[in-house]
Amino acid sequence: MSVTRHNWTKEEILEIYNKPLMELLYEAATIHREHHDPNTVQVSTLLSIKTGGCPEDCGYCPQAARYHTDLEGNDLMTVPHVKAQALRAKASGSSRVCMGAAWRNVKDGPEFEQVLEMVRTINKLDMEVCCTLGMLTENQAQRLAEAGLYAYNHNLDSSEEYYKEVISTRGYEDRLETIDNVRKTNVTVCSGGIIGMGEKEEDRAGMLVALATLNPQPESVPINALVAVEGTPLEDQQPVSIWDMIRMVATTRIVIPETQVRLSAGRTEMSREGQAMCFFAGANSIFAGDKLLTTPNPDVNEDMEMFKLLGLNPQKPFIKKMQPKTVEAEDSQFKSLGEKPKWSRPEHTIERNEEAKKKGRDKKIDKVIQQAIEAESKEETKIKA
Ligand code: SF4
Repeated sequence: MSVTRHNWTKEEILEIYNKPLMELLYEAATIHREHHDPNTVQVSTLLSIKTGGCPEDCGYCPQAARYHTDLEGNDLMTVPHVKAQALRAKASGSSRVCMGAAWRNVKDGPEFEQVLEMVRTINKLDMEVCCTLGMLTENQAQRLAEAGLYAYNHNLDSSEEYYKEVISTRGYEDRLETIDNVRKTNVTVCSGGIIGMGEKEEDRAGMLVALATLNPQPESVPINALVAVEGTPLEDQQPVSIWDMIRMVATTRIVIPETQVRLSAGRTEMSREGQAMCFFAGANSIFAGDKLLTTPNPDVNEDMEMFKLLGLNPQKPFIKKMQPKTVEAEDSQFKSLGEKPKWSRPEHTIERNEEAKKKGRDKKIDKVIQQAIEAESKEETKIKA
């Protein structure tokens, strides 16, 4: 039986990542079988409960307000809307709902109270509830835990070194602090990253070092392949190769053996054969639904056909950890402290992100001019008539 180690080095992880593929697959599949049922894959549904308008500058993200990506933003969803979506997800085989809001950080107030109510509502549907809401304080993490939150997602995205090439508005240490705040509660940690952003293999290994040396290791690690969205600074990145994805999944499985490895964004670009190899290499979760927050995702029926073909079964909820109890708002022990998470802003700017911001601004100005021209010509037509 493989043991969980917390002292991995980048060199060791790189060596694993670069093993001959058959050897890598065999090792990963063996470890996978020691810790998990290889025929069970969790289906999770990602709901964008508040879309767009984010003040951060993550170079891959169409939700950053500074870029112009033709994304339609939405205010915070209502609790009944979220409940209806969760019921639909449950009926189609999901055992987990992950709610994402495009916020820099959680702010105490009516919107956070609404999110807490969403958490209570979904937990009462006997589904695992996960949230990804940006940075949060320990008190906010405690309040989410009390509401029945099962997991909190906060990705490290890449290695500490490459992170600075993608995001300038907050630091790696801010991310680690939020993860630490979640760890002070009984909420499980979901943290992973994205490959295909222009990083080197060393950065992929560096991200896995950061995750694998956390003690305890994250209970869930999403591995995303970049979906290059027009208008974002990373719009010209070439799609990541399936072989890189398989290597990344297998390496994650070996160095973080107990975790749920999640095949996340970028699945539309993967063949069934490619996904099957990822499952063999240790991936044991997918996200269902036609959208992954804002980027395309395979249809639920297609996924169920793939499950049938591969003989996979959707995982039931609360296999790894007991369902948390929901404490109602009026019985809460943790009142709002009105605190804000501290965050460091590295004093550097990323040229590529600045250019995309300027392009977005120009595009917005063009749109305003176009609308003014159209309004004027409508007015002229009216006068002529
Ligand atoms: S990834 Fe999250 S924090 Fe970054 S810009 Fe997008 S919504 Fe904002």
